[in-house]
Amino acid sequence: MLSVAGLASAIAADAQPKANPVPNLPARKSPPIIILKLDDLPGTIAPSFRKMADLLEKRNIKGSFGVISAVTWPGAKPVQDGDPEYVEWVKKLHASGRVEFWFHGWDHAGHMENGESHNEFHGRTYEDQKARFDRGQKVAFEKFGFHYQTFGPGGGPSKYGIGKKLEAQGKVMILDRVWDVNLEKSVGNPDFNAFVTGYAKHPDREYFVLQGHPNPWNDAKFEEVTKIIDFLIQQKAVFMTPSEFVAFKRKK
Ligand SMILES: [Zn+2]
Repeated sequence: MLSVAGLASAIAADAQPKANPVPNLPARKSPPIIILKLDDLPGTIAPSFRKMADLLEKRNIKGSFGVISAVTWPGAKPVQDGDPEYVEWVKKLHASGRVEFWFHGWDHAGHMENGESHNEFHGRTYEDQKARFDRGQKVAFEKFGFHYQTFGPGGGPSKYGIGKKLEAQGKVMILDRVWDVNLEKSVGNPDFNAFVTGYAKHPDREYFVLQGHPNPWNDAKFEEVTKIIDFLIQQKAVFMTPSEFVAFKRKK
């Protein structure tokens, strides 16, 4: 057993971001704003999400987890069957303001229309999309006591432009991505060097939405993510949740 003091110092040592010096980085006018967008949280505390939540706490930064309401992959549970430990974990992180939980989809399943494959929210009627959205919100409210404020469907916003219309009406704000600046080089593969190479090319960019898929991350991959986050902390990045960033932009 560790003494309380021993535990505290162990946490403190681990809490120190490690130095990862990067040569030839162009100067920035101001530190970047970072929105961590971590996809595919099911109705269980998936181990990499637990690790990610713990890392956010240790580094005292914020991030966001995209919830799938009724995913059916092996070992996952629908949110409505989430056990008390899961529900408490979500509620506590939500209440802390450290993690924003947002709606990533109802079942996240692809589907075929006229011989073409689509992501969940593509190639469907408005009514069908809305029903999926409404069911997700209902389950969230019943289980967690809050509604999602942010929507990030698999495959990005619909190519039919509903989001663009709503944005023009001031009803939503679409946060876009810089494709060569990301936590992952390919889905499930965080890569510190690839990140820094992309980051160095965009010294004028105000914010980056960094997407990741924690479920397949092993220890080595998690280490890459930690290096990226520690590098960004050295860059004096400001980590915001999506809702916080939108509020910040609207105040400007
Ligand atoms: Zn996804």
